[in-house]
Amino acid sequence: MTKVYTFANQKGGVGKTTSVVSIGAFLAVQGRGVLVVDVDPQANATSSLGLDEQLAESLKRGEKATVYEALIARTPVAQIIQTTQRPRLHLVPSSPVLAGAEVELVGMVARETLLRKALAPILKHYDYVLIDTPPSLGLLTVNALTAADDGVIIPVQCEYLALEGLGQLIHTINLVRDNLNSRLVVAGVVLTMYDTRTRLSQEVAGEERRYFPKQAFKTVVPRNVRLGEAPSFGETILTYSPDSTGALAYAALTDELLAGEGK
Ligand code: ADP
Ligand code: MG
Repeated sequence: MTKVYTFANQKGGVGKTTSVVSIGAFLAVQGRGVLVVDVDPQANATSSLGLDEQLAESLKRGEKATVYEALIARTPVAQIIQTTQRPRLHLVPSSPVLAGAEVELVGMVARETLLRKALAPILKHYDYVLIDTPPSLGLLTVNALTAADDGVIIPVQCEYLALEGLGQLIHTINLVRDNLNSRLVVAGVVLTMYDTRTRLSQEVAGEERRYFPKQAFKTVVPRNVRLGEAPSFGETILTYSPDSTGALAYAALTDELLAGEGK
């Protein structure tokens, strides 16, 4: 059965996209078929995956269909999927035009389930579908939560007031569970940009474990400059710097995700 996870946190810059592309790469190198679905108009997952330059340009210029057309024009996702430089790692790309969807979706029938329906025909071709979301709790994120059969993974950056705002996210998750996707659970909470030297990181970790005793991943992702550099080379951390602390953490996190699924 295909596993579908959505990565969400309405705060920007907490490591959603980095987690999606890194975990996606590690799952793929372990032989799993992975589809990354970029539902963020900022299209960071799309630009992080090292697409062919010409393709990247035509996506930016709106000459190629993206997740926007899948949602608004019902273009079949099979026609939108792009391969990446990494075998078994495919992408449903995004582009800045998706920003308009947040408004256009409002008037549409069954507007919250469009992504779920769009993905349904291609799920069987993949072992994992990882959905990246924008930093908001609008209709794009609600669509991604509604499609997340195996749950939501929440990256939390180790910073002051890190858990502030998570109440709102949990509220949205509960609403989606009650009305749109009864299977929706918090599958995991992962600390990112952890700095062992600071008290703050330890405090955030303590708080995270208090609030999410079952869902907190044991693996924490350290602050690691290599993780920040990799996307500008169109590479994931797996090939850009396989021995970095960031790569080791995402390898361990991927293993933890795989191990937890057997429970
Ligand atoms: P989000 O998708 O939640 O907005 P990103 O994954 O894009 O967050 O991360 C925000 C920025 O921080 C990016 O520039 C990214 O490369 C960088 N980054 C992400 N995780 C780490 C980390 N563990 N250590 C250092 N930099 C990171
Ligand atoms: Mg992002």
